[in-house]
Formats: sequence, structure tokens, C-alpha cells
Amino acid sequence: MCYAIPGKITKIDGNIVTLDYFGEERRARNEFYQFALGEYAYAQGGLIVGRIREKEALPALEAWKEVFVKLKEVDRRLAFNPKDLRQTANAERQKHLGNACCVHGIIEFSNYCANNCLYCGIQNSNKKLKRYRMSEEEIVDACDYAVNKLGFKAMVMQSGEDGWYTEEKLINIVSGIRKKCECLLILSIGERSASTYKKFYDLGVRAALLRFETSDEALYTKMRPGHKLQARLNLLRELGRMGYLLMSGFLIGLPGQSEDSIMADIDLTASLGVEMFSFGPFISHPDTPLAKLPSAAMDMALDTIAKARLKYPDAKILATTALESLDKINGLKNALLAGANSLMINVTPPKHQPFYEIYPGHSAKVVDVEKKIEETIALLRSIGRAPADLGI
Ligand code: SF4
Repeated sequence: MCYAIPGKITKIDGNIVTLDYFGEERRARNEFYQFALGEYAYAQGGLIVGRIREKEALPALEAWKEVFVKLKEVDRRLAFNPKDLRQTANAERQKHLGNACCVHGIIEFSNYCANNCLYCGIQNSNKKLKRYRMSEEEIVDACDYAVNKLGFKAMVMQSGEDGWYTEEKLINIVSGIRKKCECLLILSIGERSASTYKKFYDLGVRAALLRFETSDEALYTKMRPGHKLQARLNLLRELGRMGYLLMSGFLIGLPGQSEDSIMADIDLTASLGVEMFSFGPFISHPDTPLAKLPSAAMDMALDTIAKARLKYPDAKILATTALESLDKINGLKNALLAGANSLMINVTPPKHQPFYEIYPGHSAKVVDVEKKIEETIALLRSIGRAPADLGI
């Protein structure tokens, strides 16, 4: 199985290489490898993340060749003659970015969190939740399995804000992963100091997932007691300056959030220069202070994706797994058809999955990872998407 198509290097200009995917050219930054023209590589997020030998690349490309052309046809057909907001957004996505779709793996390695965000099921005050932490070795092994056995080329390592993982422990984890895994390593561990993030960067981490949740300062402080929006934004900007690829965004449907506020959220996401927009619906969790409030409507979530796509046609937009909680059958598909072009698959070891319950239904039914991968590939094929890198 493979979630990235290898590209052939057709041009090298300093640290920028051009990769050919069946006649389509995309550029990527190369920081870690020495290449010659004609070699093959994997890229994720516009960054070269792995080398592949010709004798392995050619059969992989042969297997993709015919499928790639057919997928493009299906994608074009589905984007033809749009009639409403979401279809128009999908047509824009197709016009600007083609049928490429990123597929990232995610490992949720700890559900401990020091914070009490009102909307979040793993907040510190939720005493009903069974907590878990994966050991350093377990985390590295899980990532190794996802990359080297399952074939992922981009991995998100996620936890609550859990101080048990000291800087030293996280450095060991990152170093262990970097030794064993060729992939885009994305940290989603909340707020740490810029100097700590710089140490991770120096070890080869190149991406961070950190949402700002809302651009409305008053709402932010209400939803995240003891925290300030500006501190979050300052960290995001600092990470961007360091060279991190940012994945960020907001929650849709928070209590008191206006439509204007959502449009401001979209603009703020773009203004941070993110690599990927990541926004998902608020889903009411029974063991939080917002238990009695209604979850965001699916229509609102899909329209937000469409509006973001129409305003920022070149954006990479994640179809978040939370959409599956609102509509298990068609949530992701409808998001991809409303302008999204990226997915994540949960590859957390099954024994831990049920306990990372940031919203109800997040991992209620533990799905066999390989089955989930097959379902995702089938979904992508049904709507004509291919896992080629979107480039820079
Ligand atoms: S949203 Fe993040 S920081 Fe807030 S309680 Fe949940 S895991 Fe912790």
C-alpha cells in the first residue's frame, strides 16, 4: 500500500527540485538528500521526504499509470458544470490543484492534557476519561510501523498538552523516528516554547499542527480559560519564521461564533501562511461544560470548506475526521467534494484509540487500520483523487 506516488526528478535548482508525475510537474524543497537528475523521490507538503530506488519506483509508477489517468477523468467529470456553492468550490479546487490529495497518518500518543478547553473531551477536568500515555519506544515503534509497513509518508504525532513528555523525552522520540522513518514528521503537541520547537526543527521536524480555534479574542479566552489568542498566534508566526510548515485553523460552530467571525477565521488562517487549513466542526461532548449545546451542523461545516476554497483557491484544505462523526458514511466524501483535498487516517494502536475522545464518536468504534486504509483508498478512487504531492 502506498499513500504517495513517487516522482521522477527532472530539474534541480539549488534546493528546489522538480518532480514529474505522469507529465505533471510539481516543485519541492530538498533539504536532506543529494540527488541526480532522473532519480526518484517522494514529496509531502512540498518537501522531499524520501528517496526511492529506480527498481522500486518503476513498478510503483507502472501500477499507478493507468489508474492515474482514469482518476483525473473522474475528478474532471465530478467538477464539471457546477451548480451550487460546494460544487463551484470543488471545480475551483480541480482547476487550481488538480486531483492530488494528501493522505497523512496520525498517532495520538497521549490523552493527558493540562488544559481545560471548554469544548474538548480530553480536558484535564474530565475525570471520567481513562487516560493513557504511550512510552517513547511504543511511539517510535508505532510510527515505524505506519511508515515502513503501512506506507505513510507524512505522520502527525499528536497529544494533549502533556508536560510528562519533557523536552528531553520528545527529543528522544523525534530522534528515534527520524532514525527509522523517512516521512514528513508533523508535531501536534500544543504550546511549547519557541526554543523547544527550534530543537525539534534542528532534528528534522518540518511541520506543526496547531489550531488557533477562533480569531475572536473574547471567544478564545472564554473557550480556553487562562489562555490568550495572541500568545497562540505569536507562537504560530514564530514557527513559520523558523521554517515550519504550518497546519492551522479553527472550530466551526462554537457558541457565540458569528458567520463574520468564521470568515475572519478563514482569513486569519490564510494570513498565517499555512501549508494546510485545518478546521473542523464543534461537536458537543457530554463530559464538558458545553454538553448541552448543539453540535455544528454538517451543512455549516461543508459550506465553510467551500467558502475557504473559493476565497483561497490554492489552499490545501483538510477534510477533518470530525466530519465522520457528523456523517459516518458521507462526511469525508462530501468535504472532499466541497473543496477539501487532504485526509488523515488514524493509525494509533487500537488499544488506545477509544480513549482519545476529544469529541464523542472520535474513535468510538475502533476500526482495523488496514481496513480503514482500504476504505480511504476506495473513497479517493471513487471521486478521482490521487495521492500525489501538491508541491510548492
Ligand atoms: S483542545 Fe487541546 S489544549 Fe485544549 S483541552 Fe483539548 S487537548 Fe488540551
